Amino acid sequence: MANALIAIEERLYAQAGAPDGDTWRDYRVLARFQETGEVVSFLVHPADGSPPPSRPGQYVSVQVQLPDGSRQIRQYSLSGGRADALQFTVKRIDGEPDGVVSHHLHHHVHDGDTLRLSAPFGDITLDDRDTPVLLASAGIGCTPMNAMLTQLAATGARRQVIAIHADRSQRSHAFRTELDQLVAKLPNATAHVWYEHPEGPWPADRTGLIDLATVPVPPHTTAYLCGPLPFMRAARSQLLGLGVRAADIHYEVFGPDLWIGQPENRAKRS
Ligand SMILES: Cc1cc2nc3c(=O)[nH]c(=O)nc-3n(C[C@H](O)[C@H](O)[C@H](O)COP(=O)(O)OP(=O)(O)OC[C@H]3O[C@@H](n4cnc5c(N)ncnc54)[C@H](O)[C@@H]3O)c2cc1C
Repeated sequence: MANALIAIEERLYAQAGAPDGDTWRDYRVLARFQETGEVVSFLVHPADGSPPPSRPGQYVSVQVQLPDGSRQIRQYSLSGGRADALQFTVKRIDGEPDGVVSHHLHHHVHDGDTLRLSAPFGDITLDDRDTPVLLASAGIGCTPMNAMLTQLAATGARRQVIAIHADRSQRSHAFRTELDQLVAKLPNATAHVWYEHPEGPWPADRTGLIDLATVPVPPHTTAYLCGPLPFMRAARSQLLGLGVRAADIHYEVFGPDLWIGQPENRAKRS
């Protein structure tokens, strides 16, 4: 068992271009973009060459040095951006206490600064089939979906794309403009957006919580979900009710996967 796991890990490092197991590299912050009041994107480029290969849906680990000298690491999904750089997007976690790394990134990391990043990892990645694909996100779960839509648009995909997003309001919706622009570039794509408490610069398409029964979900759809667990639970059961196969529903959890421990969900994450 140990040998099998070590071999898998070695293969992952080799695929990431780091056969010695050291995937950490210094990246320069090329730009930061304020997406919403509480969401910022960082466009970064390796200090010593070109970005490693990545696939939409993957994430990087970001290592920060805090003012007290300690080091903390958090994961952030790649969120699209440019082909010659990596972009990740961070929601500031306000609370008691405030989120350590998200606050550090928001308040102390600016253009020209250096960040230490791992190579991109993760196996919830967009397939390259031509069957319909449904991308459903809520809140900051839009980050991997924006990367997937960017890739679909960049490759001129002709497959049917159904982009679904749920947010508190227009004000908290990151990548709203990108969603419209990317969907407009795709010949067979539609976007469906729900706001729980509509408030903000553009009219609400739909209000309340998502209801996928109101969205055309064609046969042979592959679905990717990302967002808070209650959202993913609702989306998954609605998709199952619409005939999407459990094996075709993939999801990313932004934290420990508490879902997988529940018997009815075992073996669903692929
Ligand atoms: C695969 C993956 C991809 C991800 N992608 C993204 C992404 O694209 N964008 C994004 O914004 N995030 C993403 N995340 C989440 C991200 O990694 C961090 O978890 C998030 O930014 C919070 O980190 P933090 O250091 O700011 O918060 P932390 O300091 O880790 O705190 C998290 C929460 O715990 C609470 N807390 C902390 N200490 C205590 C305590 N002692 N008692 C009670 N409560 C406490 C805080 O109040 C806060 O609510 C992803 C996570 C994973 C696993």
